Amino acid sequence: MRKTTLALLLAVWGVTFSSPAAADLKVFACEPEWAALARDVGGDKVDAYSATHARQDPHHIRAKPSLIARIRRADMVFCSGADLEVGWLPLLLQRGARAGVQPGTTGHLMAAEQVPVLEKPAVVDRSLGDVHPGGNPHVHLNPENILIIATELGKRMMALDPENAAHYRNRMASFSKSWRAAMDRWKHRTAKLSGMPVIVHHKSFSYLFDWMGLKEVATLEVKPGIPPTVSHLNGLLRTAKSVNVKTILRAPYDPSDGADWLSAKTGIPQVELPYTVERNAPAGALINLFDRTITLLEGAHAGS
Ligand SMILES: [Zn+2]
Repeated sequence: MRKTTLALLLAVWGVTFSSPAAADLKVFACEPEWAALARDVGGDKVDAYSATHARQDPHHIRAKPSLIARIRRADMVFCSGADLEVGWLPLLLQRGARAGVQPGTTGHLMAAEQVPVLEKPAVVDRSLGDVHPGGNPHVHLNPENILIIATELGKRMMALDPENAAHYRNRMASFSKSWRAAMDRWKHRTAKLSGMPVIVHHKSFSYLFDWMGLKEVATLEVKPGIPPTVSHLNGLLRTAKSVNVKTILRAPYDPSDGADWLSAKTGIPQVELPYTVERNAPAGALINLFDRTITLLEGAHAGS
C-alpha cells in the first residue's frame, strides 16, 4: 500500500516538476553574447546560460565540473566556434553532453560557421602560439553577422522545439526589424569614424572595424595569443607616431601593461571597449553593446 502511494506521489511529482522544465529549451552558450541572442530570439521559451562572463578570456577557460553539469542538461550548444573554445568545449562535450548537441547536429550551433571568417591563415602553425588557427573567431562584433546568426538560431529553435515554432518565428521577425533599424542608426553614426587609425591589444574587434571601416594599424600582441615583447613594443612606438594613431583599444579581459606602456610613451589614450554583454544580460542587451561601443569610439575620434 505504501509502495503504491509512493509510486503515485512520484508520478505526480514527475508531472509537476518535469512539464514546465520540458517546455524550456535549455541553451548552453559559451559566451555571454550568444546567451543574450538566444534570449532575444527565444524569449520566455528559452533558458539560456553563459559559460563565461564579460571579464573572462574565452580563449582560456577551464572545463570545470559546474560547466560539465550545465552542458549535460543542454538541448542546444551555441558558441563562437572557429577554435575559440578549442581548449575547453570538446572536453565538456565528451563529459556526458547529449547526442543532440554534438558536432554536426541541429543542437550544435557554431556562429563562425554561419558567416565569412576573416584572417584565415594560409599556413597554420600552432607551434607559434597563434590562437586563431581557423581564422578570427570574434564574429559577433559585426552587426550584419548577428542578423545572419540570429536567423539560423531561430530556425534551429523551431526545429528543436516545434510546438513553439510560431513563438520563435514572431520573435525573430520583431528582432530582425529592430536590429535593422539599429544598424541604420549605427551606420549613420560611424560614417565619420571611417579610416580612423587604431592599435588593439588582441584582434578582438576585427569584425567591428571591418564593418565600420576603422583602420587597425597594429596589435600589441606579437601574434594572436602571444604577449607583447620589448622589441615589438618599440616597433609600435615608431608606427604610432608615424600614422597618427587615435586610440589604443582592448577588451576587459586583456592585460593592460602593454597598452599602459605605449599610452605613457606616446600620449595616445587607451580605451577599454566592452567587447560583450553581462553574463545574465536581459533581452535587448546586444543593441546596448553596440551603442556603448560606438559612443566610446566617437569619444576617441573627438579626442575626448
Ligand atoms: Zn582571439
